[in-house]
Amino acid sequence: MNYSDLAPPYIRAIAPYQPGKLIAELERELGISGIVKLASNENPLGASPHAIAAMHKAINDIARYPDGNGFELKSALSQRYKIDTANIVLGNGSNDLLELSARAFLSVGDKAVYAAHAFAVYALATQAVGATGISVPATKDFGHDLPAMLQAAVQHQVKMVFIANPNNPTGTFLSAAELLEFMRALPSNILVVLDEAYNEYLPENLRYDAVSWLHKGNGEAVGNAAARGLHEFPNLIISRTFSKAYGLAGLRVGYALMHSEVADMLNRVRQPFNVNSVAQAAAVAALGDLDFVRQTCEMNQRGMVQVTQGLKKLGLQFIPSLGNFVCFKITHAEKKINAGKAYRQLLELGVIVRPVANYDMPDYLRVSIGLESENEKFLSALAQVLGEAV
Ligand SMILES: *Cc1c(COP(=O)(O)O)cnc(C)c1O
Repeated sequence: MNYSDLAPPYIRAIAPYQPGKLIAELERELGISGIVKLASNENPLGASPHAIAAMHKAINDIARYPDGNGFELKSALSQRYKIDTANIVLGNGSNDLLELSARAFLSVGDKAVYAAHAFAVYALATQAVGATGISVPATKDFGHDLPAMLQAAVQHQVKMVFIANPNNPTGTFLSAAELLEFMRALPSNILVVLDEAYNEYLPENLRYDAVSWLHKGNGEAVGNAAARGLHEFPNLIISRTFSKAYGLAGLRVGYALMHSEVADMLNRVRQPFNVNSVAQAAAVAALGDLDFVRQTCEMNQRGMVQVTQGLKKLGLQFIPSLGNFVCFKITHAEKKINAGKAYRQLLELGVIVRPVANYDMPDYLRVSIGLESENEKFLSALAQVLGEAV
């Protein structure tokens, strides 16, 4: 017998997530060192020294179970975002929160909407609970088409909409005005998961405060509205992560902000100890280190200029990105090489980028912004790959 036959058909149909290649893995395969990994949108500066110190301290108590309620971390988040701790759910990475949202609200027969070329986990989380995903074709630069997503949500009796802003892997961005227009037009019995994994990287002039959308309501002062549990968008779930700008990807910690009743549902399906004690301690310290996040963003801005100018010099098109990564195009016709081949040749030169063919972007590769020297190494390896192909 095939054990796979024991699994429900919707589980068998899942195409597993494809992570970026690991440095250690490529080292083993090629027997080389000095590999540059620009494949998973990690922070090339590492993590805040305060977070590292907090982890060392937390290790001493590792025999104890973590605080299943995450009191310290929720308190810190509550102060930062002026929101009650009852509105916060912690996750083992924000990936966990995307899954918890799906598991709490979706089941067989339900439908969720997401955009084509959006972060792969929305489809995975939807499929894992037997719900049906509706992928809405993209607009300009592979970005989300919110009016079309609204149409799809209403027409197909959808229960949940996933939006990534900025989106990974495209780096495309929706303005606050576009998001608000969407939220106001959407029936409030449809939940919206707004994934803001790259929020910290947004430049000042594009920043918006989605958290305020949770608790501004009915013309009342924010404090009163919040105290009475009134929310402008009680159907909004905002997810954030410590994996990207905070540099804690290996620890797995994220959080989501939402109406307390929605939070209550996520907490019911959450593992009691889903965020480990070391991660909780590190996240509190990381949240307090605003300088580190600022340095990270400044370095990312410089690196983005370096990488995109380098791509231009090589005659390559790219999708303007507001994250810490950028997708660039390698068309076989012009360059005598395709994206898949270029990916493999870059590996041989010790540079790991990310293929995005599984995002229906077979002509593109995604590169994360690294340190200046890493970006340089990537650009010269790419020049070599293209040069040899001509
Ligand atoms: C990286 C990423 C995440 C989540 O990462 P975690 O490490 O699970 O917090 C979520 N959404 C998007 C769009 C991402 O790119």
